[in-house]
Amino acid sequence: MKRFFFCLIGCLFIAGCSSVPYSNRSQLLFISEEEEARMGSVAWQETLNTEKISNDPFLNSAVQRVGSAVAAVSERSDFKWEFKVFASEVPNAYCLPGGKVGVYTALFQYTDNDAELATVISHEVAHAICRHGGERVSQQTLQAAGAELIGAASSDSELAMMAYGLTTNLAAILPFSRTHELEADFVGLLLMAKAGYDPRHSITFWRKFGSLGSSKLMAYFSTHPHGEDRIDILNEKMKEALELYQKSEQKGVGTVYQKSDLKGAY
Ligand SMILES: [Zn+2]
Repeated sequence: MKRFFFCLIGCLFIAGCSSVPYSNRSQLLFISEEEEARMGSVAWQETLNTEKISNDPFLNSAVQRVGSAVAAVSERSDFKWEFKVFASEVPNAYCLPGGKVGVYTALFQYTDNDAELATVISHEVAHAICRHGGERVSQQTLQAAGAELIGAASSDSELAMMAYGLTTNLAAILPFSRTHELEADFVGLLLMAKAGYDPRHSITFWRKFGSLGSSKLMAYFSTHPHGEDRIDILNEKMKEALELYQKSEQKGVGTVYQKSDLKGAY
């Protein structure tokens, strides 16, 4: 924790504006990309040690197949990409900085094909390549002047877990802002199209996922606020996404999931 704090103070002097890929929005970051990736990998290790890993072959191959297709077009070959399925009844997914992607089994209740799975994975990968986690840590630390956030976490990994919404303590999660959410929807849409998945299936997925009022979905929406404007932004950017899709190695919806394939999903 001390190390993070000193790095933060150090970074205050070298903080600069960088610009977000695709959206070109400028962002202020007090944390280097290396530090962010280091925190991501510590949080990942902790997750691997504490969460139940699913060995379901169908779900794992789907996440590997779709995840590596999205990673391949992310222009982040420096990330150490890893894809894992975790057994959980909470439908959620995330991508830590540095490229560690986790998908919870319950998410498969809402995906009928690879294109719908690509919608979520691309959205999460977009949060990582746009450095939303680092921005959240920077913003929160600035606001709280280190007191609340740093006081609430007892280690770097705890801080990273909180920043990326991996904690089971909902009160401690730092939610993505509306700006981050819409940016991840837009960038995610372009990523799935570049990866060859028909971007129009993002709308079928979000309609299905968003209309369910289950309390289990609350965990997802507490870190990924859900707005009516999500579908609007997808429609608005669809032309741009379809142009990328036309140029890609088109896969359509990819593999279609049968009920019998999804026995490993909660
Ligand atoms: Zn999100």
